[in-house]
Amino acid sequence: MISYLYIGVDDTDSPDGMCTTYLASQIINEFNDNGIELVDYPRLIRLNPFARHKTRGNGGVALKILNDSKAELAKEIVLETVEKLSMFDCDNTNPGVIFYDGEITSEMEEYAFRAIYEFITIEEAEEFGRSVGCEIHKFKKGRGIIGSIAAISLPLSDYTYELLAYRSQDNYGTKRQIDYESVYEMDRKTFPDTFENIDYSENYIAIEPKTPCPVLYGIRSNTVEALKKAKGIVEVGEPIVDWCIFKTNQHTDMHIREVRDIASMKQFGCYCVEGEVKNRPTIIDGGHMFFYIADDSGEIECGAYEPTKNFRKIVSHLRPGDKIRVYGGIGEQNTFNVEKFQVIELNDVEYKNPICECGKRMTSAGKNKGFKCKKCGRKLESSKKVPIKIQRFLKNAQFYETPVSARRHLSKPICRMDLD
Ligand code: ATP
Repeated sequence: MISYLYIGVDDTDSPDGMCTTYLASQIINEFNDNGIELVDYPRLIRLNPFARHKTRGNGGVALKILNDSKAELAKEIVLETVEKLSMFDCDNTNPGVIFYDGEITSEMEEYAFRAIYEFITIEEAEEFGRSVGCEIHKFKKGRGIIGSIAAISLPLSDYTYELLAYRSQDNYGTKRQIDYESVYEMDRKTFPDTFENIDYSENYIAIEPKTPCPVLYGIRSNTVEALKKAKGIVEVGEPIVDWCIFKTNQHTDMHIREVRDIASMKQFGCYCVEGEVKNRPTIIDGGHMFFYIADDSGEIECGAYEPTKNFRKIVSHLRPGDKIRVYGGIGEQNTFNVEKFQVIELNDVEYKNPICECGKRMTSAGKNKGFKCKKCGRKLESSKKVPIKIQRFLKNAQFYETPVSARRHLSKPICRMDLD
């Protein structure tokens, strides 16, 4: 019977450099030189977006190879590469490597989902890893084992791919030489098979990282073919020393749990919930926009923060009585940070004073005293306003999302919403 060796690596980078995917690509090169082949693509698995110690996007990496006579050599290569390339000087870099040669059990899958939805301690991860038979290697505090175990264990019912191109070390920290025109061309020719390339509202090239890491660019896609085509179109003015395609849970909404009511949601969880808009969204100092939604179980403040830029304009069109489904997470301030929303039913009725027979809109004649017409003096006893259908900017059933520049790695863009 064929058996496999699963390898998980996490927490090797720091804000000043390195990237666990680059480290993985170096391991893969060494594997190739030694005749060790990967089974399936390497994985880049994004975990709890609220994890406290993340460098950027809380991603762990996993590799799968045959558990054969070369397995011990593979382990040596992995551990040596982690020793050599991890950013050990950074307090927050605490690499963890795990090896596992059994079947991925449902218990391990559950653990992986917990690593997306909840917080796990190093001790818990270690205890769990040992209980299922993982070989555990901790460097410094070894926090990376939390993500490593999850990265090998997560089932991928939905997935995307990311092609990462890496720079020459001499260029780390310098301005990336990417021909932006070619990125626009690539997007025109490959979207929606590739996505998140450009934020058109901000003219922001999203494939280009903004940190001094080894990545020159990263292109995200539903298919490997589209990635290869895209790579052929993007022109760069510096060497690409290596590139690697990862299979990933990015842009799958895997972090989002659908809940029946508002009261079921907890702080630091990510959810999809329906509610009725209670007030007109208002902007406060700092440019953040807030509004409340409610259902029979309670209410919650929703926020579209300043970095979501034009999304706030869309949110400003919401009005009380609109029924919407919001997707996002509850952060530090206990506010629901909206990643996208779908309109369930717009409130397109406004109540106004009646129009007088003479054509003029009437005014109130005082509390419960009906209406009067200022033009012809006619009076109406009833104080009931009349419903008027109004034109809305938003549309029923439509999704509205934050711009690419403000989107989470895990958030499913609208262009992927009908792929289910
Ligand atoms: P990059 O995106 O560049 O790979 P990063 O944002 O992934 O960087 P890491 O260096 O991987 O940051 O650090 C994240 C740390 O959080 C890792 O040690 C990982 O094991 C840990 N972690 C992941 N998920 C959880 C969780 N659910 N609870 C607690 N810790 C977690």
